[in-house]
Amino acid sequence: MSEPFEETLRQRLEAVRSQGLWRSLRPVDHRSGSELETGGHRLVSFAGNDYLGLSQHPAVLEAAVRAVYDWGCGSAASRLISGSLAVHHHLEDTLAEFLGTKAALGFSTGHAAATGTIPALVGPGDVVIVDRLVHACCVDAARLSGAKLRVFRHNDLDDLDRILRWASALPRNDSGGPRVLVVTEGVFSMDGDSAPLAGLVELKERHGAWLMLDEAHSTGVMGPEGRGLAAQLGLGSRVEVRMGTLGKALGASGGFIAGSRALIDLLVNRARSFIFSTAPVPAAAAAAAAALELMLTRDGEEARQRLRSVAAAGARVVARAFPEPAGAAAYEGSAGHILPVPVGDEAAAVALADRLRAAGVWVPAIRHPTVARGSARLRLTFSAAHTAADLDSLEEAFNRACIQTPPNLSGDAA
Ligand SMILES: *Cc1c(COP(=O)(O)O)cnc(C)c1O
Repeated sequence: MSEPFEETLRQRLEAVRSQGLWRSLRPVDHRSGSELETGGHRLVSFAGNDYLGLSQHPAVLEAAVRAVYDWGCGSAASRLISGSLAVHHHLEDTLAEFLGTKAALGFSTGHAAATGTIPALVGPGDVVIVDRLVHACCVDAARLSGAKLRVFRHNDLDDLDRILRWASALPRNDSGGPRVLVVTEGVFSMDGDSAPLAGLVELKERHGAWLMLDEAHSTGVMGPEGRGLAAQLGLGSRVEVRMGTLGKALGASGGFIAGSRALIDLLVNRARSFIFSTAPVPAAAAAAAAALELMLTRDGEEARQRLRSVAAAGARVVARAFPEPAGAAAYEGSAGHILPVPVGDEAAAVALADRLRAAGVWVPAIRHPTVARGSARLRLTFSAAHTAADLDSLEEAFNRACIQTPPNLSGDAA
């Protein structure tokens, strides 16, 4: 009977709760610009990853709606089974052109792009080396591949060098390997800092390893026309595997891999999350292509400029609320669109987020397992959709939320 099942789950949930790690969904009844309505309250959100506000841009909406009428709501099957719709090819051609690669491939999500790609590239007997702070999907994908998983200290080239030396000394296997894949991010999702890409590229080339760069938080935001960190540094052609999502700054939904023709052909033949999954909805592909086209226009440039000025103003608000030394870190090289405020204790972070919500702004408390235990934080994200009034609301909310109980700031967010 299901009684032991329910009891087991209840016990596990109790353990989650007692560690201050309980999560639940908060229904949003309405969304407009940076405002959300939840439980009858209007809140200004500093929680989304819609950095340019494109999820509500008229040209993106128009493209999505048109695709629904042109192609239908769903894609009917995997692209290898029932034919590959032109709307998906258009997106991939647009992506490849945008990133300056030979080819690109769309996935239903960025998560699916990672779990399809890493196991297609490496397997048992090979090595995957990830930055300690890479997104869960790349860690999951690395585990799924069956390759040996090694973790280097965040952005630490010496530590990576040490692990690459170890990998170089491994005995050769049947495939002439081991193949060695290094995985990192353009802009780290929970810290907002960037990978030292020039050094990483130099290092992986010296050791004959491959590099996969997840640009989930840099696509659309950094580099010329929002082409990302690799483009900003002129290193695109030296990164074997470029990954990103269409669901953040591009305001749509889906994930992608961009690179050589051989890479994309291999994924079409080997990436299980691509082969064994219904193609992304046409509306999402069309919306993403429209967003990419917007990147090249005045609208796109203005949105990126607005984001930068909102982020700079937001950083000043946070610095006033949390003065030195434990105040929020602003990182060189990042557009500043992700701003972590270190708190440390899980329950304290949640309590602070609750007080901010009561004061009218939504700033998420980020806890284990998204970040390490004891490094809970508030994570603010800024968007071109934020107004000056939104930033005033943020300042006022910080003033009210921090007055009774200043947060127990304990230094390093990482
Ligand atoms: C959000 C995110 C992903 C996953 O992308 P989705 O399209 O949301 O599945 C991958 N990597 C990083 C760094 C992310 O932040």
